[in-house]
Amino acid sequence: MSRPSVRPITMRWLAIAGLLCTVGLTVPLAAQRPASGSEAASYVSIDAAVVALQDVTLVDGTGGPVRRNQTVVLQGNRIAAVGAADAVSVPEGAAVVELSGHTVMPGMVGLHNHLFYMAAGGRMHPMSYTGQRLYLASGVTTIRTTGSLATYAEINLKDEIERGLQPGPRIHITAPYMTGDESIDIMTRFKNADQARRFVRYWAAEGATWLKAYTTIRTEELAAAIDEAHKSGLKVTGHLCSISFKEAVQLGIDNIEHGLATNSDYSAAKVKDQCPADLWQTATTVDVDGPEVQSTFEAMIDAEVAMTSTLAVYELFVQGRPTRDRRTLDAMAPAVREDYLAAKAEIDEIGRPEAGFLNAMAYEKAFHDAGGVLAAGVDPTGNGGALPGYGDQRNYELFVEAGFSPEEAVQVLSANGARVLGVFGDLGTVEAGKLADLVVMRGDLTAEPSVIRNVTIVFKDGVGYDSASMQADVQGRVGIN
Ligand SMILES: [Zn+2]
Repeated sequence: MSRPSVRPITMRWLAIAGLLCTVGLTVPLAAQRPASGSEAASYVSIDAAVVALQDVTLVDGTGGPVRRNQTVVLQGNRIAAVGAADAVSVPEGAAVVELSGHTVMPGMVGLHNHLFYMAAGGRMHPMSYTGQRLYLASGVTTIRTTGSLATYAEINLKDEIERGLQPGPRIHITAPYMTGDESIDIMTRFKNADQARRFVRYWAAEGATWLKAYTTIRTEELAAAIDEAHKSGLKVTGHLCSISFKEAVQLGIDNIEHGLATNSDYSAAKVKDQCPADLWQTATTVDVDGPEVQSTFEAMIDAEVAMTSTLAVYELFVQGRPTRDRRTLDAMAPAVREDYLAAKAEIDEIGRPEAGFLNAMAYEKAFHDAGGVLAAGVDPTGNGGALPGYGDQRNYELFVEAGFSPEEAVQVLSANGARVLGVFGDLGTVEAGKLADLVVMRGDLTAEPSVIRNVTIVFKDGVGYDSASMQADVQGRVGIN
């Protein structure tokens, strides 16, 4: 099994790229290119005008079956050709990367991918260093922040990534959380509909493209926010509770986060604009094939409202689940790790029983099978065990456990996220003409789900970044910055 040793040959490839330019080959200018001498540039392992990935196992994100012995040609920041080795000609002078024994999939599009971290011990802080590195190193090349803590830090980071100064994914900015009374104190607690409209207009002008409603928001304010958002070209998603999925669809919401454990459609105790206390019990007992659930799915599918899965963060609160991933523990600062492991020990004793979690997995599979658009994201909050990128990879393993085929799971993690963000024309699948955002993994992803963790190179805009060096640089830093 060959393993590309990427760093030592970079200079040779750069020389080849230079040669191509001197002989006059026209290559479209790449966007989001690393600026020379920048932190982003320090992680680049492959940068050539034309790159050919040879002999790859390809899961292309369309949901179609895995294809073997494929060649993928990247030219500038686009995918120029994809096909069987004997059907694709490699342009002369291309930097050839021999990838026998490796899988390639599209860059993941994470729809619940905060740039802040919440963890055991009362921690909550912006991730201004580790977040962007962990996302890119893990193969997440596009994120929606889906509720922000320090919105201007996130706007600034997006700008620095676009200027090639910092490594990191493409970022879709979400405004600060919109909620009602008695919610988390960093959030905007709306007092009335006028305030909601004012808030939306302000953040639209500042560059937000999405809004995130949170648990205790009331109908009047959510309706006003959605109406004002749609007038300004923004979209709205929500971690709901006081408003059920079907009620939110009625109000015109565009996307709903988290799935079954936040849906109050099935709660016997539901009162308008109030959060019921029995959501986890409902999640455990509701029949995912029954008429109540099918009625939610029909409402969402008819209105084209997507659902975002965040299984990796829910798993952390369930007894007896494998949630002590070595890489995650190594990335945590020592005090964060200590508090996390103490929290996990307690959860294994008195945490949520597994039945509710398994039913939530079945709910998402049923939504997908019914024709709903299911996408995914990590949500690096809760007790801190679902890290940016690593948790997105864990979602892949959980989808396979839930009964998705490897091809379907990749489609959920890439193409479906791109659809929800309105960027499917450029991203989400490995097809000629699309932007060259790809993930290279050692091993056969379709044979063994944990291969999703073996990322070696991540291409964004046709530039290859070395995953191992980004991962090395975050060791012991998660929980600090
Ligand atoms: Zn969240």
